[in-house]
Parts: sequence; C-alpha cells; structure tokens
Amino acid sequence: MQRASIVVATLILAFGIESSWSQSDAKCTQQGGRCQDVSSPCSGSYMKGLCSGPASRQCCMHQKSKFGPLCSGYNSNVPRTCDSFGCGHYGASRGNGRKHGGVDIKCGDGSTVYAPFDATLTGQARPYGNGNAIDNGVGLSGQGLCVKLFYLKPYKYTGSVKKGQAIGTLLPMQKVYAGITSHIHVQMCDKSDPTKYL
Ligand code: ZN
Repeated sequence: MQRASIVVATLILAFGIESSWSQSDAKCTQQGGRCQDVSSPCSGSYMKGLCSGPASRQCCMHQKSKFGPLCSGYNSNVPRTCDSFGCGHYGASRGNGRKHGGVDIKCGDGSTVYAPFDATLTGQARPYGNGNAIDNGVGLSGQGLCVKLFYLKPYKYTGSVKKGQAIGTLLPMQKVYAGITSHIHVQMCDKSDPTKYL
C-alpha cells in the first residue's frame, strides 16, 4: 500500500515537472521546434536557450523547408534575372548606393499567388506607400520565418493559410514598369537573404 502511494506520488511529481517545462518552452515551439533531450535524434539542429529544464534539454529545429511555388504557371520559383530595370537577385544594385533587399520571383500580371509555407498573415505590406497600381502586398509568419510578399492584391490580410493556398493575384506591373520581368518580391522581415528558401 505504501509502495503504491509512493509510485503515485512519483508520477504526479514527474507529470507536474513535465507540464511546467512545457509551459516555458514557448520560445522553441513558437519557432516550430520541439524541446527534447539532446540524446534524442533531431532531423535538424539543436538550439540552446529556448527550452526550460536541464541544459541537456534543447530545441530541435527541423530543417527549414523550401518555399512552395509562389506563382501559378510555374512548378518552382524561377528567379528574375536582369532586365532593363535591374536584376532580381538579393543585394542587386538599385542605384544611389541602394541595394535590393529581397529576391524577385517571376510571375505574370494577374497570375494567382500561393502561400509558400503554412503561415499566419500579418497584415498589409506595401513596397512604396505611394498608392500606385502595384503598391500592395502581405506579410506571412510561420515555421520560424517572417516574410513579406510585394506586388500582389491579397484576398485577405489576416488569418491562417496553408502552403500552396491561393492568397492573391499579381498586380499589373507592366502598367508601372513597361517591359520589366513581372515578379513577386520576396523579402525577409529582418532583410536577411531569402535565397536559400527559394
Ligand atoms: Zn524586388
């Protein structure tokens, strides 16, 4: 009888500790990771300081997957190379010492734009703020990534979307920049290089 109550007490204690760990694992789980002991296999890499509990309990961040195709008519994300308006790669010169802060992905005017990963829409994202015909876009956050997509008319600005779900249509880029390679501008919220995801 006494033995049984010790077992019960141990179980309660163990579950109590586990649930208090889970409550403070938010830093890891919000970025799409999972807290576990570093002796357990992890398909990505372990990150310190995101999990509660002992030092050997760390955040397994899965390999960040590539973005799904962004534009209808393309099976993959095809980068805009160079045209008379400039080049589409990250860091390309935009004159006056300015650099291109994202990557341009080919997409025809009026094409459907798809969510590149499971995400929460974070609101309107406007490239210029001048209200011209292509001054619209949307932010997406999920899987530890925060991204802005420009030059589309989003169907909505809030809520959640699934990878591959239609989220808007490309605005009439040729009306503003006749002859340019029409495209979606993909920019990380921290202005880091998105090329590895594309
Ligand atoms: Zn761009």
